[in-house]
Amino acid sequence: MTDCIFCKIVRGDIPANKVYEDDEVLAFKDIRPAAPVHILLIPKRHIESMLNTSREDEALLGKMLALTPVIAREHGLGAGYKTAINTGLAGGQEVFHLHLHILGTPQP
Ligand code: AMP
Ligand code: ZN
Repeated sequence: MTDCIFCKIVRGDIPANKVYEDDEVLAFKDIRPAAPVHILLIPKRHIESMLNTSREDEALLGKMLALTPVIAREHGLGAGYKTAINTGLAGGQEVFHLHLHILGTPQP
């Protein structure tokens, strides 16, 4: 998917404020934050949306969910945070590379 903006971020073709990376997933700050902390967590492999996943993606999806408290705590969200995965046009998805939003306000 050469014209996918998140694939471009994965390849390093366009910059992003990265906060976590391993061989399978990447997390970076949302360019238009809807909360004081707004991070997007994506698989490096191009998957359009949750509608394009299957049971074979259980490990990857489980890993992404299990990473959310790790990333959240690192950004001051140890007291709590929201997650969202907008799925499909009818689900409000704008960028068609699967991504999990992590949103919150750091607590003192
Ligand atoms: P969604 O509606 O779930 O598809 O959300 C897409 C999100 O991607 C929005 O919150 C955008 O602000 C964010 N976004 C789009 N382009 C970039 C980019 N180049 N870097 C970081 N975040 C982006
Ligand atoms: Zn992509």
